Amino acid sequence: MCVTCGCGEDDASIEGVAARHEHDHVHGHSHDHEHGYHNVSGHSHAQEVTPSRKVQIEQDILAKNKAYAHANRRYLAERGVFALNLVSSPGSGKTSLLCKTIAMLDQQSVTVIEGDQQTSQDAERIRATGAQAVQINTGKGCHLDAHMVGHAMDELKLTKASLLMIENVGNLVCPAAFDLGEAHKVVVLSVTEGEDKPIKYPDMFRAASLMLLNKVDLLPHLSYDVDAAIAYARRVNPAIKVIQISATSGVGMDEWLAFLREGMAQAQAI
Ligand code: MG
Repeated sequence: MCVTCGCGEDDASIEGVAARHEHDHVHGHSHDHEHGYHNVSGHSHAQEVTPSRKVQIEQDILAKNKAYAHANRRYLAERGVFALNLVSSPGSGKTSLLCKTIAMLDQQSVTVIEGDQQTSQDAERIRATGAQAVQINTGKGCHLDAHMVGHAMDELKLTKASLLMIENVGNLVCPAAFDLGEAHKVVVLSVTEGEDKPIKYPDMFRAASLMLLNKVDLLPHLSYDVDAAIAYARRVNPAIKVIQISATSGVGMDEWLAFLREGMAQAQAI
């Protein structure tokens, strides 16, 4: 269950296999614990949810997620993997940007976890570039959580000193609350959206280290105010780094790749 909107995630699956199937995996947790997870979500109990109980449920869910995120982060650190969590509205161009990024980097060094409610279209697009990808379908869920990502990492062969890109479900609300074990959240805002998204969805822009202002090749056709979008983002997060980018024209790709290479070098050095 999502702490923000109350959506369910019991029907989440990875490459068509239920995410909650019983098996041992690298994170060493038993799914026996998941019974508690189900219970706190309220799916198994016809219990009235009072405001104080709701706060308790939220705290329990986020505490469990934090523990899984910690395990993911440790697993990634042991392998020197630089992991990013890409978040945005639907249609911001995340998958196209990933395909372009993989084409410009060595595809062997990039691994992708794709999150969508349904279909494996995006994972197939990534695999077509030659990079390894695994698809998580969240079903009714509106975000990835650290537990699902841990399972997806089990399915992947993460090579040492590689880059893991996690493309979250298109949603500027709920993914803000869930740490997946990534080094940074990267928020993608396209110029076909409103400039004021950062102040409408401040939690996400506050949680991100980097904003990719995407599809800037379309600016000549739009009355989009780039300075206003950046000012709004900095109003909620003065430290946010901004790169203006286009997978189509290639503008900003060098700066983005430099950010990735620096992060990969730092992850290896730890
Ligand atoms: Mg996508």
